[in-house]
Amino acid sequence: MSHLFYQTSSFRPFLERGEGVYMYGQDGKRYLDGSSGAMVSNIGHSNPAVLAAMRAQMEKSTFGYRLHFQTEASETLAARTAALCPPGLDRVFFVSGGSEATESTIKLARQYKIAIGQGSRWKVISRMPSYHGSTLGALAITGYDPLTGPFRPMMREMPKIPAPRAYLDGMNPDDPATGLHYADMLEAKILEEGPETVLAFIVEPIGGASTGALVPPAGYMQRIREICTAYDILLIHDEVMTGGGRTGKFWGADHWGTAPDIIAISKGFGGGYVPLGAMIARSDMVDAVMADGGFQHGHTYAGNPLACAAGLAVLDEIDRHGLIDNAARMGALLKSRLTGLMNRYPFIGDVRGQGLLLAFELVADRATMEPLPPAMKAFQRLVDIAYDMGLIIYSRRTRGGTSGDHFLVCPPMIVTEDQI
Ligand code: PLP
Repeated sequence: MSHLFYQTSSFRPFLERGEGVYMYGQDGKRYLDGSSGAMVSNIGHSNPAVLAAMRAQMEKSTFGYRLHFQTEASETLAARTAALCPPGLDRVFFVSGGSEATESTIKLARQYKIAIGQGSRWKVISRMPSYHGSTLGALAITGYDPLTGPFRPMMREMPKIPAPRAYLDGMNPDDPATGLHYADMLEAKILEEGPETVLAFIVEPIGGASTGALVPPAGYMQRIREICTAYDILLIHDEVMTGGGRTGKFWGADHWGTAPDIIAISKGFGGGYVPLGAMIARSDMVDAVMADGGFQHGHTYAGNPLACAAGLAVLDEIDRHGLIDNAARMGALLKSRLTGLMNRYPFIGDVRGQGLLLAFELVADRATMEPLPPAMKAFQRLVDIAYDMGLIIYSRRTRGGTSGDHFLVCPPMIVTEDQI
């Protein structure tokens, strides 16, 4: 018996080692990591250059508390990260994961508004469904009932608007009217709540696990930026999954050229080598908070030199091997192959995504997008069949948590045509 209580629905082998896009179990089997773990191992497993950089850093120091020492690794990674951001976003706050990153964004947003005399603003609008993390603050802005339900009495739940799932609503995602239709729901919610009470809107530029690689409809990202600006509401991009190149551009929002006020990144930032994340914010926001007594927030392991050295090496490897371009090319190929499967299998209702953040959805009827009945257990069977055949895919039930089965197909950005 295992003393762990992580949730897995069926037997999984012990992991022996990982190399490139493959993972090897102690059962002697080789698995293609078709989801990069949880969309984390973007540059593949056991990259020698990253291991060498970690080893070199470990021989110097593994930990330097950020209030006691500056470190070259954290300074350099902060500068590199800021240089990748839209102009004006150049202050970096390191954390050790995605939930810490998103929670940091809403706390900084709140302190900034207090600092500039707008203390009446505290509501963070987000989308349903969405996933921003599992700690109580991040959960309050998460739109996913099975996860939030038990904890509702323990947190202050925040307003939600529907995610722009045009494919479920029978709307054309390429029609700018569709983007406006969903973006206008943000404006309506702001007016309903009272603009003077609204602090921020948080959005995954391309949806992750909760919506299954949902690409927003034409015009949506531009319009939400305009609405936030018009009502003096901070726009937060949760790029925890999309940041780092997986979608074929470094930031998911680069596909639309829109700039937020704060960004959260994690997952591919540490690439599965170390827990690493960051929040990047506008200088004037950080300066206002610092002048008002400082940011009342922080985590012990934040910005430790080992994590930052690994993060730097991950960025170097992405550049050296042109992995963002590879993600765009291999993603287009994989998407066309997945779309081709729709001709053979009527129960694939939708294929969507961008770059190597792709998903397909199982349905009972493509015309109505009716989900498969849960009793069929098709969802778990497909995961298990893939596993038996040596392929790992990431599964999530979305619609109400009981049906609506989508699968993320997100191999590492080093994947080759043969492996696709
Ligand atoms: N935000 C997004 C968009 C995510 O996909 C995730 C994790 O899946 C998180 C936040 C939370 O990250 P973590 O699991 O590292 O706390």
